[in-house]
Amino acid sequence: MSATEVRWDTPGIFPVAPDVYRIPLPLPNDSLRAVNVYAIVDGGGVVVVDAGWVLDEGRELMATSLATLGFGLGDISEFLVTHVHADHYSQAVAIRRDFGTRVSLGAGERPTLELLARPATERGLFPPLRLLHAAGADELFNRLRPIFEERGDLVADWGMPDRWLASEDIQLSTRTLRVIATPGHTQGHVVFLDAAAGLLFAGDHVLPHITPSIGFEAATGPRPLQDYLFSLQLMRAMPDSMLLPAHGPTREHVHDRVDELIEHHRARLAHCRDAIAAGSATAVEVAEQLRWTRRERTLAELDPFNQMLAVLESVAHLEVLVERGALTSSTESGVTVYSS
Ligand SMILES: [Zn+2]
Repeated sequence: MSATEVRWDTPGIFPVAPDVYRIPLPLPNDSLRAVNVYAIVDGGGVVVVDAGWVLDEGRELMATSLATLGFGLGDISEFLVTHVHADHYSQAVAIRRDFGTRVSLGAGERPTLELLARPATERGLFPPLRLLHAAGADELFNRLRPIFEERGDLVADWGMPDRWLASEDIQLSTRTLRVIATPGHTQGHVVFLDAAAGLLFAGDHVLPHITPSIGFEAATGPRPLQDYLFSLQLMRAMPDSMLLPAHGPTREHVHDRVDELIEHHRARLAHCRDAIAAGSATAVEVAEQLRWTRRERTLAELDPFNQMLAVLESVAHLEVLVERGALTSSTESGVTVYSS
């Protein structure tokens, strides 16, 4: 079997371009299967894009993978993290604790990390939970609330990055990475473009097989889907390059996948509008009418965490339709009700 036929989440270290390697690391839940981190050999050390979920098994795999290149975890000069989600950021801050590694993250993640750093009593209700209530998904709200309250305390230990990235060029010794802010999946999501090598380290902004969730963050923006669609157009306006995603196999062309994602959202918006026209009134009712994942599952077939992502995504689409004047909305006892 050639390297390209191996399942993308098979553990190992896979060259994707000269001096650039993909290292899939495990996740504590299986729905995304794995997260890719990318090691860039640079001068006498290595720069790593994204860091994985803080798990002993993942740390061990990163260490043994880097060892095949002659490096240890202490040779990582910097983690360039695409966004604040646990599967990208948490291992970076854990490794920094032992080696003093520099950790960089998009400046737009600052409100989320500042909110999470507050004592539990001051944090208030996790905003995605608040959205669930407004979406009419109270059963889900009640199931998830204790889980998120527990999780909030873990996240509070993460700490801040060493530097906040704005739209800027990062000069490595052998290449230049342009930081491009791509708000949407999270407000502070960034991608890293190596224009000379034709590589896009895309994080979760452009994924080959799935569409990234929208609006799952502590300090969410008022228009996350509009932000996301704008950030997709931004990719289309840049020269095409090879897609190096955080979940899934690499793909030759970013633009092809961006076009598919734009089309997916166009169709989703139409389905949401149809669901309201057919009698659904709240975001959770719309989510029940739609089909989810590549396997076309119903909302009830998803686990509670993915049900939440599905409802948040429905909210995001409905809000776009309201903004475009295709729907109107009003609030009835804290629940948003939509009509054609
Ligand atoms: Zn991710």
